Amino acid sequence: MTDSGEVVAPGHPDYERLRLPALPNYHHIRPRAIVRCFNTDDVTQALAHARESGTHITPRGGGHCFAGRSSTNGIVIDLTPMNDVSVQDGMAVIGAGARLAEVYAGLDRHGLTLPAGCGPAVGIAGLTLGGGLGLLGRRHGLTSDRLRAAQVVLPDGAVVDCAADREPGLFWALRGAGGGQFGVVTKLVFDPVPAERTTRFVLTWPGTGARDVLRAWQEIAPDAPDELSANLKIDAQRVIVFGAGEPGDLVDLAPATSDISTMPYHELKQSFDDLGDLGPGPVTSRSEFFRRSLPDQAVTTLLAGLAPGRELNFTPMGGAYNRVPATATAFAHRAERFMIEHVSADADWVHRSWAGVHHHASGRVYPNFPDPHLDDPLTAYHGENLARLKDFKAHYDPTRLLNFPQSL
Ligand SMILES: Cc1cc2nc3c(=O)[nH]c(=O)nc-3n(C[C@H](O)[C@H](O)[C@H](O)COP(=O)(O)OP(=O)(O)OC[C@H]3O[C@@H](n4cnc5c(N)ncnc54)[C@H](O)[C@@H]3O)c2cc1C
Repeated sequence: MTDSGEVVAPGHPDYERLRLPALPNYHHIRPRAIVRCFNTDDVTQALAHARESGTHITPRGGGHCFAGRSSTNGIVIDLTPMNDVSVQDGMAVIGAGARLAEVYAGLDRHGLTLPAGCGPAVGIAGLTLGGGLGLLGRRHGLTSDRLRAAQVVLPDGAVVDCAADREPGLFWALRGAGGGQFGVVTKLVFDPVPAERTTRFVLTWPGTGARDVLRAWQEIAPDAPDELSANLKIDAQRVIVFGAGEPGDLVDLAPATSDISTMPYHELKQSFDDLGDLGPGPVTSRSEFFRRSLPDQAVTTLLAGLAPGRELNFTPMGGAYNRVPATATAFAHRAERFMIEHVSADADWVHRSWAGVHHHASGRVYPNFPDPHLDDPLTAYHGENLARLKDFKAHYDPTRLLNFPQSL
C-alpha cells in the first residue's frame, strides 16, 4: 500500500472487485477509474483531474446509495482506505471511508457509540450527510445531530474545516442534505454517546396478526419513551417488532414469540445485521414519511398487497429526532411520526403499494432513501430548507462538478 492515491482502471486485477457498489441494481456501471484515496491530497488531486478533464466524478463511502449515486462511468473517489476511528478529547474522529461496523467496534473500545444505522457495511459519511436513523435515534437524534466538525475538499480544491463557528453555512448544509452535494468529506468529528447495556427485543406474530399489530404500533411507537425504538417489519408470512429498549405496551399485543434480553450495545447492533434480507438480486424500495396514522381502510389496502418476496418496513420517528427545529440543520424532517418503506424485487408492486398510501403521507422523503420516481424530489427531500441549500450549492459548487439526477 502506498501513501498516495491508487488509480484502478479496467484491466487492473482489483478493478472488478472495487468498482462494485453494494446494491446489485448498479453493478452494470463501469467507471473509467476508481481512485483509492489514502489522504486528503489524494482527494484534491482526483477532483483536480475531473475538473481539468471534464470527467464526471463522485465520492463513494460505503457504496450503499439506493439511487446508485456513488457509481459513475467517470471517476469514483473511493474513500475506503480512509477509515481510521479514534477518540480524541472525548470526540469521535472518523475517516470518511469507515463503515458502520468499524465505527461501532472502534468506539466500543472506549465505551462509546453513535446513534447510527444498522447495516454494518453502510458508510458513516453517506449515512451522516443524509441524516442517519438508528436504534438510538429517538433518544440521541440523528447521526448528523451528533456531528461537531467535518473536513471537506471543495470542488475547487480548497480544503475546509467546518464546525458551528467555522464555515457555519457549510456545516449546516452537511447535516442532512444528502451526500455528494457540496464537496468530498474526508473526516467527521462526532460527540459520541455512552455504549450502555441495552434491552434487545424481537416479538413476532403470524401474518394474520398484521392488521392489529400495525394499528397499535402506529399509536405506540412514535410516542414511546425516547429509550424505546421499535421497528416493525411485515411480510406475507409474519410480523416482527424488533429494537432496543423496554418494549412496554407492545408485549400486551400477545406476540407468538417473544425474545427479550439485555446485552452490551454493540452486540445488540450486530444481532440485527441480517434481519430482512430479501436475497442477493436487485430490489426496488420506495419510502415516505407520515405525520398521521393510516386509517383502517388504508391499512387494509396496504396489507392486501403483500405476497412472498414483498416487505413493508416501518421506522418510528418522534423523540429526539423531532426536538430539533426543522431549519436548525439541513435535515428538514422534524415533525414526522414514522416512515414506511416498500421493498421487493417486484418493482410493480413497490410502485402500487407506495401509491396506495401516498395520499396519507406528508410528502417528505428521507434524503438517504432517494427515490428516482418522485414528482418533486427536491421539496420532498429538503422541505423548507430547499432555498437555502440551493444557495449553498451555487456558492460551493458553482460549476456543478458534483452532479447527479435530483442533486441540488
Ligand atoms: C443495507 C442497507 C442498510 C441501511 N441501513 C440504514 C439505517 O439503518 N439507517 C439509515 O439512516 N440509513 C440506512 N441505509 C441508507 C443509507 O443511509 C444510505 O444508503 C447512505 O447514503 C449510504 O452511505 P454510503 O456511504 O454507504 O453510500 P455511498 O453510496 O458511498 O454514498 C451515498 C451518497 O453520499 C455520497 N458520499 C459518500 N461519501 C461521501 C463523502 N465522503 N463526501 C461527500 N459525499 C459522499 C455519495 O456520492 C452518494 O451520493 C441503509 C442502506 C442500505 C443499502
